Amino acid sequence: MYRDPLCPTDLGIILSYRCQSACKHCLYNCGPAWKDWMPLETLEEALQATTAWGHQFQIHLTGGEPFLNFPLLLQGVQLAAQLGIPCYVETNAGWCLEEKDVLEKFATLREAGLNAMFISCSPFHAEKIPPARTLLAITKALEIFGRQNVIVYLPHWIEQIQIFGIEKPTPLERYVEKFGLARAGRMLWDGYSIIPAGRSGYCLGHLTQKRPASAFKGENCFMEILYAHHSHFDLYGNYISWFCGGLTIGDWHDLPRILDDFEAHRFPPLIDILVRTGPFGLYDLGKEDYGYQELLEGYAGKCHLCVDVRRHLSGQGDFQELRPKEFYENVSPYPQSGGETGVSQRSGN
Ligand code: SF4
Ligand code: SF4
Repeated sequence: MYRDPLCPTDLGIILSYRCQSACKHCLYNCGPAWKDWMPLETLEEALQATTAWGHQFQIHLTGGEPFLNFPLLLQGVQLAAQLGIPCYVETNAGWCLEEKDVLEKFATLREAGLNAMFISCSPFHAEKIPPARTLLAITKALEIFGRQNVIVYLPHWIEQIQIFGIEKPTPLERYVEKFGLARAGRMLWDGYSIIPAGRSGYCLGHLTQKRPASAFKGENCFMEILYAHHSHFDLYGNYISWFCGGLTIGDWHDLPRILDDFEAHRFPPLIDILVRTGPFGLYDLGKEDYGYQELLEGYAGKCHLCVDVRRHLSGQGDFQELRPKEFYENVSPYPQSGGETGVSQRSGN
């Protein structure tokens, strides 16, 4: 009934989890605390590894913020072009201060064979990045790449992020003050189609309705894990299906073996639970065997439940699927302070 599992058509290569922003909606818990970058040889291996898939697909070079290491980004674009793999680059535009610099970098990538630019644009990004930089990135990308080859994600926010001024970042609270919590919640959460994975359930969960763990019983992750069109390879070797940050289905260096195993429905233990019974199955495991306690205020979605249980499990043992481990140390956008938005009471035993 289903085609072979693990056939992404858009594969992201995470060059680093390092990012100047640490957005509250980030699915990979990126931020300034991360230091590592993918070595060039690993980047070459990652691109070569994709040839294990026989079908046509595109890659995107991403992070974190890939422009924080422009030489590596440029080499990645050159390598993809040499291999004939269509490639786009994602950026948050935080580095776009000078028109000349932006033009030069975009033109250099274009000449190296880059097909398209993807520019993030949302109130979540605008909490850290002045909208003027996003607008500069969009304008210059259009000049260099042309309208067909610039993806603004999401374009309807271009006007909205300017309403509080463009020279400074805008705290999300300004939306709540102006529109009230319920309307701001709908605008922000629904208007971006937030996936409640990464740190978003903790930091933005107040913008949507929360539900108890039992509400997610019966929601498995069969499609997300096995049939994701969008997946990632990270710098540490983790193959991340769909947008499930912090969860690896295996080491992409062993891609042919992973593909064989998944075709035969041989999954790593936690992946098996998620494919069959979703995060409620993981919750059962966490509660029964590892002392997990449910969040009293509930969860902003099934992925919030999943991340919260995984976070607990990662502190209890060395689960191979819970990689990179630093993901679980960077749930808070303020890792140095240990502070955290939205995490409060757990049910006690
Ligand atoms: S979502 Fe924000 S923190 Fe995450 S990589 Fe993008 S810009 Fe950086
Ligand atoms: S619940 Fe977990 S495994 Fe399932 S889609 Fe969400 S993050 Fe991925």
